[in-house]
Amino acid sequence: MSVGVLALQGDFREHASVLSALGADVELVRRPEELARISGLVIPGGESSVMDKLSRTFGLAEPLRAAVRSGLPVYGTCAGLIMLADTILDGIAGQEGIGGLDIAVRRNAFGSQTASFETDLDVPVLGGAPVHAAFIRAPIVETVGPRATALATLADGRCVAVEQGNLLGTSFHPEITGEHRFHEYFLRKVQTAAFAA
Ligand code: GLN
Repeated sequence: MSVGVLALQGDFREHASVLSALGADVELVRRPEELARISGLVIPGGESSVMDKLSRTFGLAEPLRAAVRSGLPVYGTCAGLIMLADTILDGIAGQEGIGGLDIAVRRNAFGSQTASFETDLDVPVLGGAPVHAAFIRAPIVETVGPRATALATLADGRCVAVEQGNLLGTSFHPEITGEHRFHEYFLRKVQTAAFAA
């Protein structure tokens, strides 16, 4: 079972190494035909407006939307979460994303790079110890629509992790803090989806 990491831009190498450490067969995805070989996809952190443009330049935007519609499990972190949001409240002109998650996100919701921070979050669905989460020019999920479920909130109640069927998204970056439980949780979705197919 092969899991793709969208490798147009951003911290795809960090995701690839977490997934490999968990025993997954990892494919870096840059071309539409590579989507046919994978059972799940991770969209990394980076800069969503750039990733969005590159996905169109590389002819990946429509194939990615079709893959999400057809039920491919996809996990997006930070810029990846923005790519998966149905509504981007403050995208740059022409920023479209892929969509799929019934949420509205606000980019850079905590300020600039220097306002980056780390905090511990309770994530009941993962059980056990709190998740140590790094927020880097992170988005906030401002609205969680009826089809999506919030998995974690900050102390002030703002949502930073969501799930909807085969889709998973976090405002933060488990791939850089040694936190593997989100990736494990995602790989279980990939296995279940592959088994049902
Ligand atoms: N602010 C970035 C964006 O709009 C996301 C930052 C990140 O992925 N760490 O895409």
